[in-house]
Amino acid sequence: MLSPGILSRLKEIVGRERCFEGEVDRLCYAYDSSLESQLNRWLPDVVVQPQDREQVVAILKLANEHRIPVVPRGAGTGQCCGAVAHRGGIILDMSLMNRILRYDLENLQVVVQPGIVHAELNQALAAHGFFFPPDPGSTKMCTLGGMVSFNSSGMRAVKYGTTKNYVLGLEVVLPTGEVIVTGGQRSRALKSVAGYDLTSLFVGSEGTLGVITAIRLKVLPLPAKRGLVVAYFDNLEASGEAVIQVFRSRLFPSAIEILDRSAIKAAIKYKPALVLPEVEAMLLFEVDGPPPSVAYEAQSIARVCENFACKVEWTDDPARLNQLWTARSVVGAAAGQLKEGATRVYIGEDICVPVYRVPEALRRIRQIGEAYGITIVTYGHIGDGNLHAAPVINTYDPSEIERVRKVGDEIHRLALELEGTTTGEHGVGLTRAAYMEEEHGISFELMRRLKKAIDPLNILNPGKMALD
Ligand SMILES: Cc1cc2nc3c(=O)[nH]c(=O)nc-3n(C[C@H](O)[C@H](O)[C@H](O)COP(=O)(O)OP(=O)(O)OC[C@H]3O[C@@H](n4cnc5c(N)ncnc54)[C@H](O)[C@@H]3O)c2cc1C
Repeated sequence: MLSPGILSRLKEIVGRERCFEGEVDRLCYAYDSSLESQLNRWLPDVVVQPQDREQVVAILKLANEHRIPVVPRGAGTGQCCGAVAHRGGIILDMSLMNRILRYDLENLQVVVQPGIVHAELNQALAAHGFFFPPDPGSTKMCTLGGMVSFNSSGMRAVKYGTTKNYVLGLEVVLPTGEVIVTGGQRSRALKSVAGYDLTSLFVGSEGTLGVITAIRLKVLPLPAKRGLVVAYFDNLEASGEAVIQVFRSRLFPSAIEILDRSAIKAAIKYKPALVLPEVEAMLLFEVDGPPPSVAYEAQSIARVCENFACKVEWTDDPARLNQLWTARSVVGAAAGQLKEGATRVYIGEDICVPVYRVPEALRRIRQIGEAYGITIVTYGHIGDGNLHAAPVINTYDPSEIERVRKVGDEIHRLALELEGTTTGEHGVGLTRAAYMEEEHGISFELMRRLKKAIDPLNILNPGKMALD
């Protein structure tokens, strides 16, 4: 519990109406999208909504002086308990700092506050003919601060990379209240090799090293056109081979997605109007660029796939394109409808393995589900090996909870066995903390030392990523 003195100081800093200490308010901040935060009620002592950098500075100085945990939070759409205050303390809700501070489009960049929602940024940029390419499925909710802190990405990472490829510099308030600017104090340059790359240190640091208050982001011109190839396969290995052959044919789609048999079944049940064949796997290849190159690339990919697939189709008609993408976009929601009274839960949900091992990973995930009697729907970004396993369980059944935790553990261990990583997108937080030493070996010790050097009193997001 925070003392009345601390609470009244926080109210002075952010204003009484931006400081929430009631139980219901605090409950609203006790979760993210992970299964673990549904099962555990980690209540913060207080939630504050700063409106500018100076307020963040004052809050961190106060927290550091009194050793109070501070957990920065964007929209709370993360899936690993990253933005949950499992040791109590202050939740710093950054969602009100949500403005575009500067357009600098002739230099291919913008400066934004961390609370801006991804879709809103891209809507504003589209009006100028530009876009910020990383594209999480949570686009309409997640904030840029959360994306930078998790190094988030999505379907187009295969061609455009992840958030880190677009962060040119950051304004960060350190746990002690000092403000730093990474990437050059006044720089508007698109690249720099001057000194240690501190920007990269903060990207992916999951709110454990500093609070991001401004982001200098690289943006790109919007592609003129998009096209889509859809291919259906009678066996899983053939779908993996098709992807590898597409790359070998010097073709570079902007997205390559896979739905395995379980995901196709879920999509059919959810939206029969999609009229999908019940095959072993389905691939979607998106291409983008000037119209002639879209047609050339899509037709070339279709030709490659014909050697492996039982059916192939391509289109550049926006209406048909949207219709075909629907199968992929409904899977997350569709999974939960496969079993009466069950929901899709987030555990072991975003491993990333080498591309050529994707079919093997899909098969092994299916076997893990069967061994524990848990339904798992699997789909994901085969282009970069990032797979989404979606267990579907009754969260009120303790036996299913126990079994799904074992399923999650086995999936994480499978990722490491297949020379991959326990998380390709969603971050470490609490749910992947147990695997950090095994995944990183001796270099994990350096991460711990960096945390200690920057946050000596361990006030920022303590306990996450196994850093203490
Ligand atoms: C339906 C759904 C689909 C999703 N699809 C994808 C996907 O395709 N790809 C993907 O990568 N992720 C996906 N996610 C996960 C999630 O949306 C992303 O990780 C997102 O970037 C988190 O943003 P947020 O604003 O919700 O951050 P939060 O969950 O609030 O926070 C995430 C982390 O960032 C830290 N943080 C937040 N703001 C700041 C700040 N200003 N300074 C310092 N630290 C900060 C927090 O402490 C926490 O550790 C999905 C989630 C859902 C629910």
